[in-house]
Amino acid sequence: MDFVCGTDLTNKAQVQEVFTYITKFTPSVVIMSPLCTTMGGWSRLNRHSNPERFAFERRRAEQIADVCAAVAMLQLKGNRHFCIENPRGSYIFKLAKYQQVYDTGHVVSVSFPQCACGLTSPEGEPAQKWTTLWTSSEMLARPFRALQCRHNSHRVLEGSVGGMNRTKLAQVWPAMMCAMIIDAVI
Ligand SMILES: [Zn+2]
Repeated sequence: MDFVCGTDLTNKAQVQEVFTYITKFTPSVVIMSPLCTTMGGWSRLNRHSNPERFAFERRRAEQIADVCAAVAMLQLKGNRHFCIENPRGSYIFKLAKYQQVYDTGHVVSVSFPQCACGLTSPEGEPAQKWTTLWTSSEMLARPFRALQCRHNSHRVLEGSVGGMNRTKLAQVWPAMMCAMIIDAVI
């Protein structure tokens, strides 16, 4: 459900297809990771160096985040589950639609450092990216509560390597994080 697998959540018709799919197939859990390029610490830098581009990206990110919140609501209404991942402190959790989701009283939140589930820099050093999950399932959140960073040092995710932005590379979930989510789901 993102650009990687071909669905554009800023496109109304495609968003409608997503809702139709969910209504028809009633998935037990929907895992979502709305775009976060304009979120987190680095967004402050772009905001000043390129305000127009920042405003455009931010609007697009909010549109996608709102679709994810609507999907979460749809899941809750059907007594099913969802999980939304974003950097800790991300502004999406403060958006009105997210507050509505939270106010249902069916959301648990967990924050953890991704280095504890194997996130590394391209050079293989641990990268401590604090991440937050909002989910309707305590079973899904529980394994992440136990995660602890045991490293003495980390690679700071800034600059680029091999022509790729480090923060962008870190948007890909480490295999262990995916496995933990899948284990909790099945
Ligand atoms: Zn660590």
